[in-house]
Amino acid sequence: MRPACIEVVMKTVKPDLSQGLLSELQCPGCMEYMLPPIETCMNGHNICSKCKPKLKECPACRKPLLNMRNFALENLTRKIDYPCTNRKFGCKETHSVDFIIDHQVTCVYAPFTCPFLKHNKCAWIDILKNLKNHLLECHSQDVREQNGETNLIINPESKELRGYKVMFAYNEMFYIYIQRRATNYYIAVTYVGKPENASKYGYKISFKKSESIESITVCHVSRSVNEELNKIFESGNCFKLPYDLLKRYVTCDGQLRYKLEIFEVSPVR
Ligand SMILES: [Zn+2]
Ligand SMILES: [Zn+2]
Ligand SMILES: [Zn+2]
Ligand SMILES: [Zn+2]
Repeated sequence: MRPACIEVVMKTVKPDLSQGLLSELQCPGCMEYMLPPIETCMNGHNICSKCKPKLKECPACRKPLLNMRNFALENLTRKIDYPCTNRKFGCKETHSVDFIIDHQVTCVYAPFTCPFLKHNKCAWIDILKNLKNHLLECHSQDVREQNGETNLIINPESKELRGYKVMFAYNEMFYIYIQRRATNYYIAVTYVGKPENASKYGYKISFKKSESIESITVCHVSRSVNEELNKIFESGNCFKLPYDLLKRYVTCDGQLRYKLEIFEVSPVR
């Protein structure tokens, strides 16, 4: 058994060492803590790999930057825990060099832009927790809150061939992208949250011709909002049907109505 006094010494020394090392790891370019690879200038100042390609000279001494890594400092990064870059927004988590990036990607304190930034030029930015209230207050016409099922209407003849909606179901949020490209009609449902949870939800899209037995129903698994939309469209991991086929479902008032239902996918046994 280890003597009690050594235990005490180890616990008090480690945080100081960590703090000292962290201040050594502060990048002179972005002031964030550097993760490997760490490179240097000709005077030995360190620079992070995000800043280096953007800089012509060392921000500390104005001398040229070299293609030379500081392996000694990189090895020391294994000995400490990094505070999350969202600490200024309230995140108190710290993680080792191997896990800090994974945490930051899904950190609930990460600043989030409004999904209507591009479509309506909405400049809202805050943490994800506050997004639902903002959407309900400012974009209610494009938000559906019925649990799991809703009717969406598109005017297929309108010049605006892109549609964008937000839907809440199962206390989760989904972004719905609607697009006509050439002869095809695409609808992709993406899950907002940890990417590994996206496949827990599926969606069913149904078109039905009134007063007829004709109908189309397509089911897909939802994708992560972090995925590139073009890739989702091109890979076929979404609703995709020729517009000619869907034209049959355009109502006499010129709208294409469909029912979108989000459901939980039960694990395959
Ligand atoms: Zn930097
Ligand atoms: Zn320098
Ligand atoms: Zn965080
Ligand atoms: Zn907004």
